[in-house]
Amino acid sequence: HSGRQLQFEITQFGDNDRLMIVYDITRLHNLEQMRKDFVANVSHELRTPLTVLSGYLETLQDQHEGIEPRWLRALGQMAQQATRMNNLVNDLLLLSRLENQPEDREPHIVHVPRMLKQIHQDAVALATPKQQTVTLECEPGLCVLGMEADLRSAFSNLVTNAVKYTPNGGVVAVRWLADGQGAHFSVTDNGLGIDEVHLPRLTERFYRADAARSSATGGTGLGLAIVKHVLMQHKATLDIQSELGRGSRFTCSFMPTLIERET
Ligand code: ADP
Repeated sequence: HSGRQLQFEITQFGDNDRLMIVYDITRLHNLEQMRKDFVANVSHELRTPLTVLSGYLETLQDQHEGIEPRWLRALGQMAQQATRMNNLVNDLLLLSRLENQPEDREPHIVHVPRMLKQIHQDAVALATPKQQTVTLECEPGLCVLGMEADLRSAFSNLVTNAVKYTPNGGVVAVRWLADGQGAHFSVTDNGLGIDEVHLPRLTERFYRADAARSSATGGTGLGLAIVKHVLMQHKATLDIQSELGRGSRFTCSFMPTLIERET
């Protein structure tokens, strides 16, 4: 209606009376769009300077003859922080893209077992120095209709988190199985767990259950926000079960109508 964003709330009184409240949320909507555009533009603009910085840092580290050890250590730290910033910018760009939901992205049949094999291999590489075990249980040929790159980001975020927030010697179990309710991707760990007060806010951007602990792991605080948006796009749900000190289970459930089976 003439470019305005309206929200309706209807309440029924008795049999015949209804009250309709109309909210004009145009301004709120425009402000929200400005915020999204701003984040997207800043992230995009940060990319080039970061690439240049990282490139020169790498060259300096490679040609380190004559550089004092303390400056070499400083270079190492600079490179580490540049990588961290790069991850942050990439996560922000992905989140912006997911929020703006461009229509040009068509869902395809995604062969999840194949994708998980790769994600599992990467997780094993990350878990081996921590003497952790990562298991994978997959229904062969169980595919889903969706956006492959986004699903890969979401699943790999959940697996990486499980490895990150599980102490040495722990176990991470990755499953992709179907039942009458749909297809379920779950990651179970016996790690640090999350206090229930944090659970409702866990998928907010930059929200961290324990700031000190999380900053040591070098995450961006955007992983679960990305997971939430990817799942929303697939009309899938995220369920989080967790107990402090015992471990967590993150489950993504996809509707039966999205399931495809490779014969
Ligand atoms: P981060 O980059 O900090 O990992 P995420 O958005 O992926 O950001 O996760 C948000 C917070 O949720 C983390 O900082 C951590 O406190 C908590 N968290 C996520 N996954 C787990 C897990 N498997 N076990 C315990 N805590 C977790």
